[in-house]
Amino acid sequence: MKSHTAYLSIKTDERYAVVNITSGVEAELKKSGVKEGLCLVNSMHITSSVFINDNEPGLHQDFLEWVEKLAPYDPGGYKHNLTGEDNGDAHLKRTIMGREVVVAVTEGELDFGPWERIFYGEFDGQRSKRVLIKIIGE
Ligand code: ZN
Repeated sequence: MKSHTAYLSIKTDERYAVVNITSGVEAELKKSGVKEGLCLVNSMHITSSVFINDNEPGLHQDFLEWVEKLAPYDPGGYKHNLTGEDNGDAHLKRTIMGREVVVAVTEGELDFGPWERIFYGEFDGQRSKRVLIKIIGE
């Protein structure tokens, strides 16, 4: 069995952002040489997410506005922020949007549904963060 591990570095200009990381994952799949297997992609940070959905900018804005309604930025509003941090909202947003995705690899390609792409959701950005890619198979 082949195994390939890689890390994407991401630093967003904004505190909140959605970044399409599909091409970065596909590049690592090519390097791996795996034709049949599984590809795991996860955020290594507890204030950002990896998720699969449509590459449509209006939808990305909808996601950001939706999680802001559920867990608004509020430095005085979360017990977590008693630690001196201000990112209690970001931990909750990350949990809503998810930690990781797993995509099947078929004939050397990510076996997506028609509109599926992989996105990184940032909820406490403007600093360098990492995404783990682990590809296993034959
Ligand atoms: Zn925190």
